[in-house]
Amino acid sequence: MSEGKVIRIRCPNLACQRVLAVPAHARGKLVRCRGCSMTIRIPLPKKRDAEEAEETEETQEQEPAAGSA
Ligand SMILES: [Zn+2]
Repeated sequence: MSEGKVIRIRCPNLACQRVLAVPAHARGKLVRCRGCSMTIRIPLPKKRDAEEAEETEETQEQEPAAGSA
């Protein structure tokens, strides 16, 4: 079972900058830094997350230059 996926985030507190290991299922939630007790928001995963096959909506459709000839 490889369900113990962990995300590492760095505390935004410049006076702390502690790297926190939080469970992957806590994405988008708030965690408290153990170093400074600051509440940190866990960023959502990027597109390259094989765990959740999210549809990539990065289709950059280049509109054909509608030039008025
Ligand atoms: Zn901290």
